[in-house]
Amino acid sequence: MTPLQYVLITCAVAHVVLPLAVATSDAAYPPPYGLDQSGTTTTTTASAVDDLIPVRREVYGGGRIIDISHRYLSEMPTWESPDGLGHFLWLAKSMKNGSEANNSEMKLPTHTGTHVDAPGHVFDHYFDAGFDVDTLDLEVLNGHALLVDVPRDKNITAEVMKSLNIPKGVRRVLFRTLNTDRRLMYKKEFDTSYVGFMKDGAKWLVDNTDIKLVGIDYLSVAAFDDLIPSHLVFLKNRDIILVEGLKLDDFPLGLYSVHCLPLRLVGSEGSPIRCILIK
Ligand SMILES: [Zn+2]
Repeated sequence: MTPLQYVLITCAVAHVVLPLAVATSDAAYPPPYGLDQSGTTTTTTASAVDDLIPVRREVYGGGRIIDISHRYLSEMPTWESPDGLGHFLWLAKSMKNGSEANNSEMKLPTHTGTHVDAPGHVFDHYFDAGFDVDTLDLEVLNGHALLVDVPRDKNITAEVMKSLNIPKGVRRVLFRTLNTDRRLMYKKEFDTSYVGFMKDGAKWLVDNTDIKLVGIDYLSVAAFDDLIPSHLVFLKNRDIILVEGLKLDDFPLGLYSVHCLPLRLVGSEGSPIRCILIK
């Protein structure tokens, strides 16, 4: 069996068992307003009117559409900080204070939560030349994508990449790692022990596959020990796009259609990005 056949068969099996899984997740939501990502409830000041409960979902259309973006929350992790993102959103104009409408403002690093890296992130001459997130190719960010599980005991090295047997022709891959099992994106404190690509793993991917979209489940595709070297390998040719901080919990591996859209932030080497999978 070729790896692609394996993937397709796995997908077919996933489709068979899916209705059960969907029924379960449908039953689990909507969570009540104020339910944070760790599952603990926070105090809500909502009125007692029962139908004023907003719906917050992880999947849509009976499970056909899966949201793989994380919510932006003050307690989400941010690069090298023990304290999380902190206060980033406030109601600058409030109806309670006499404004005609509510208007919020926000301030956050562009590499927060689920986000994308442009070539200017690690190459200053690309930054100066304008290779910002507005120049990223939406064709790369949208199309068939493979979700793969990475061996849980190590970083993504050349050996690991080789062992994954990703078929030639696959252009978009989301790498689910130990980071998902450890729920690192739900922990406020930044954790340097996250799993990511070592330089040789990045080089193997560039040299031996057709992958142009690399997605991963913590704040960097590169392991902390090879942070800049791995980024340099990926972004050197400006044809690979890195999506970081993806939410890859609780759905089967296999082939999906991915859709990711960054903001058109001219001059920025990073952007928050909304990504979904469609079965
Ligand atoms: Zn980044």
